Amino acid sequence: MSKRKIVIIGAGYGGMLTTVQLQKIIPEGTAEIVLINRNQYHYLTTLLHETAAGTREDEKVCIDIRSLIDPRKVTFIEDNVIDIEKEKQQVILQNGEPISYDYLVIGLGFEPATFGIPGLKEHSLSIRSVKTAREIRLKIEEAFARYAVQPNREHPLTFVVGGGGFTGVEFVAELAERCYDLCEFHKIPYEQVRVICVEAGPGVLPGFPPALVEYAMKSLSSQGVEFRIGTAIKEVTPGRVKLAKGDQMDEVIADVIIWTGGVQGCELIGRCDFDNLRGRIKVEKDLRAPGFNNIFAVGDSALIMDEANGRPYPPTAQFAVQEAFVCAKNILASIQGQPLVPFVPDNKGSVASIGQHDAIGVVFGKQIQGVPAVFMNRMIDNRYLFFLGGLPLVMKKGRIPF
Ligand code: FAD
Repeated sequence: MSKRKIVIIGAGYGGMLTTVQLQKIIPEGTAEIVLINRNQYHYLTTLLHETAAGTREDEKVCIDIRSLIDPRKVTFIEDNVIDIEKEKQQVILQNGEPISYDYLVIGLGFEPATFGIPGLKEHSLSIRSVKTAREIRLKIEEAFARYAVQPNREHPLTFVVGGGGFTGVEFVAELAERCYDLCEFHKIPYEQVRVICVEAGPGVLPGFPPALVEYAMKSLSSQGVEFRIGTAIKEVTPGRVKLAKGDQMDEVIADVIIWTGGVQGCELIGRCDFDNLRGRIKVEKDLRAPGFNNIFAVGDSALIMDEANGRPYPPTAQFAVQEAFVCAKNILASIQGQPLVPFVPDNKGSVASIGQHDAIGVVFGKQIQGVPAVFMNRMIDNRYLFFLGGLPLVMKKGRIPF
């Protein structure tokens, strides 16, 4: 049998772990593996709210891709994928030559969804990569530095966070903590800072039990976070956010506006004409793209329906990791002419951090908060690092769980 070429695009949770698994399980001489990613590092997307707020350094969430791959088995190409030519079976890169494939794994992750709200895309920032998180951190620091030297402070220093979902609340909690430090550094009274979380739905942290949501909101409100629930962002102009609650309109002057209110799959997927919903490929049970025997999608690039409620499973790192194991297994099965296995999502629950020392979660059906939730959150991160690089990586990048 001739050597097959497996190309993985995107080194996020899904793509990176698929690569690491493939290099473990593919028998020598069976396949050439190529990983393409726009950065030379893999990053822990689930921790980007911390780097965005400035409560964690970039290096702590970045892992050099070359340290995770065996160069005898995997070739890494740092480039931007700009197109997929399905008929020619090749991936088009921004800088390099086209790369042909026998098998393709798409793991390009997510992009912010701004739902056509006027000005939101142009005048807000989103947490979607190390680079955008760094931009947010700099804008926050610049806003503090500017405010500190203002002779007449007519308005409070205001940060508006659009979206009270998982990412929005986790970010707001880190931001509140960071504001304390920055206030102290710049000698600004904390009362002169506003952190506003705007949520259009009836509550924050949808999906979490009401008691845990109350716990999180109480903790954040006591740190001065203002929640504007049932309030929609109608328009964003430079430094201003127009809000609507029912018929009531309001305008907030904002120094920095961060949007966490929605994500969608990658624009490239829609452009390449896969059967998709907002950039997420409606994959078959075995994770293959409909109509293609040799194209798989993982992570936020894959859309899987929850048959129990007829709605898509949420895009999470948890499922991206589970999919990576099945994807690698199915590529090997396909090469060996064996039957492919279905992906069966196993929702073990979720934990949301409420700052550096607090969290809430539902794990294996049990509600947790405070120290046990922080412990569990860190264990989840450490477990992923273990899958990726074993104990040495946990020691290097992991967190002490207590
Ligand atoms: P990603 O991790 O986004 O990786 C995509 C990769 O593809 C990136 O490396 C990117 O650089 C690369 N890429 C993209 N486009 C191109 C291109 N054109 N060419 C080359 N490379 C490209 N989920 C949880 O389960 N638990 C949590 O606690 C949690 N917390 C979160 C907190 C935050 C702040 C955010 C933003 C998300 C959180 N999520 C959480 C969701 C989770 O991070 C995503 O579902 C997960 O990252 C998806 O993994 P992925 O592999 O699909 O994509």
